[in-house]
Amino acid sequence: MLEQGTISIHTDNIFPIIKKSLYSDHQIFLRELVSNAVDAIQKLKMVSRAGEYNGDTGEPEITIGIDQDKKTLSISDNGIGMTAEEVKKYINQVAFSSAEEFIHKYEGKADQPIIGHFGLGFYSSFMVAKKVDIDTLSYQEGSQAVHWTCDGSPEFTLDESSRTTRGTTITLTLMPDEEEYLEAARIRTLVKTYCDFMPVPIKLDGQVLNQEKAPWRESPSNLTKEDYLEFYRYLYPFQEEPLLWVHLNTDYPFIINGIMYFPKMRPDVDVTKGQIKLFCNQVFVSDNCEEIIPQFLMPMRGVIDSTDIPLNVSRSALQGDRTVKRIGDYIAKKVGDRLKELYRDDREQYISAWKDLGTFVKFGVLNDDKFKKQVEDILIFRSTAKIETTPAVEVQSSEGDLWQDVTPSNTSSTPYTTIKEYLERNKERHENRVFYSTDEASQSTYIELHKNQGLEVLFMDSFIDTHFINFLEREYQDVKFTRVDSDLDNTLLDDKSGEIVDPTTNKTKSEIIKELFEKSLNRPKVNIRTEALKSDDPQGTPPAMVLLPEILRRLREMN
Ligand code: ADP
Ligand code: MG
Repeated sequence: MLEQGTISIHTDNIFPIIKKSLYSDHQIFLRELVSNAVDAIQKLKMVSRAGEYNGDTGEPEITIGIDQDKKTLSISDNGIGMTAEEVKKYINQVAFSSAEEFIHKYEGKADQPIIGHFGLGFYSSFMVAKKVDIDTLSYQEGSQAVHWTCDGSPEFTLDESSRTTRGTTITLTLMPDEEEYLEAARIRTLVKTYCDFMPVPIKLDGQVLNQEKAPWRESPSNLTKEDYLEFYRYLYPFQEEPLLWVHLNTDYPFIINGIMYFPKMRPDVDVTKGQIKLFCNQVFVSDNCEEIIPQFLMPMRGVIDSTDIPLNVSRSALQGDRTVKRIGDYIAKKVGDRLKELYRDDREQYISAWKDLGTFVKFGVLNDDKFKKQVEDILIFRSTAKIETTPAVEVQSSEGDLWQDVTPSNTSSTPYTTIKEYLERNKERHENRVFYSTDEASQSTYIELHKNQGLEVLFMDSFIDTHFINFLEREYQDVKFTRVDSDLDNTLLDDKSGEIVDPTTNKTKSEIIKELFEKSLNRPKVNIRTEALKSDDPQGTPPAMVLLPEILRRLREMN
């Protein structure tokens, strides 16, 4: 070995890089400064709870000030403040955060998590400011207020300040190109976007801009059905009420909180891109986290808040991340649980929701084995049988999250059944046999024929059923699935040549076959199965990636 040592960084060169390239987006400086202010307030609460501060903490608040003449934007908090030593330690040293020390020292004293982590956020202010001033007074008794200023070069000055109130004010003198941040409307939008659910009031011109409360942080038992619906309306205004929702909250093996909704499928519901808002400790991160939720749950909306989702990594890295995969599995499981609960407690409502989400459930079954195991017994199909459904009752689960009670539609007149129930109902007549139709219109004669004989037919006529029949055939190895128009010889169960087999029309088997044959000559042949599979692998279930665009396209067309 020639030499061993520590790599050094030349500040003059690295500083401009930090300022320019740390974040791709200039506007996030506001999120960073406001989250520091929220942390400062949270930290004051923690030292106060630890008995290290007996003064008045006052009403926590963050105030944003705009001075058009001086071209300054300021963010003030009445939090913990900083001593001169702390400014030297945490501000002058880039990438040095007090968060970890603090969390460690005041363990158990936090009711809200500390947002800070890397010790880089503060320097994002130099993306928009040519000069930054800090004016701060620490909560510690006998502290001297200090004033720090830096013009974006690696040189700073620190001197005494005449400030008399506890807390910190960060003042940015904006660069000429960045004066858009002097517009109140711009600031309001940014606070709404990034800081809406931060737990401290953020004021501009005396008005509170943010919601403060983050419902997903609440315990599900504290929330009513109306709370969930109200939150949905807040996130997605002017939309129909969601079909169902799940409240995510777990600490192990990863931390995640959130509320996710399954919307009604309508033309204005864009299911081609993720609609979920990703947060990290109540700070908004991004609008689109398609990589996190399983593909078949793509239409879901709502909020996911997790510190375990790696940020600032590429999409492909996110997709390959193990924790992200587990989070996806967890979400799928929660959705599966909710579906089972609804199936058990309110079949009518389940049927009504099935019309919108059935396709996605089937898609999930085809692509996710664990999900398949969860929901395989509650897959339902429309049937020609007359089946009584149980009346709707409103259900509240132990966790407190609710299903919306939909006003009964015409669901009770449209019977749906599981394969199991079908087999059980028909076992006297024909064992291990399922008759199905892939197209009600073109196969109507055959369907009638079966009905006349008292044979129950299931409709597997949605485009995903094309693939789903293959799946069912694999799942129920000893069951024969017969398409109504495919196997007439065996379908007409009571065949004896010349005998009447259709009691309604008094026709014999040969008469029926002759008739059907003539009809089919006059009709273009529709074979949904081969048609839908044309572009895919004709042998089996096409991979999810092939099927999803098709699902989404058809869903949009459907409405
Ligand atoms: P992080 O928030 O990840 O710790 P920052 O660069 O945003 O990193 O801030 C660095 C440190 O500066 C913080 O850890 C905190 O100690 C201190 N600090 C920044 N803003 C404030 C503030 N408004 N009040 C008190 N301390 C602050
Ligand atoms: Mg910070």
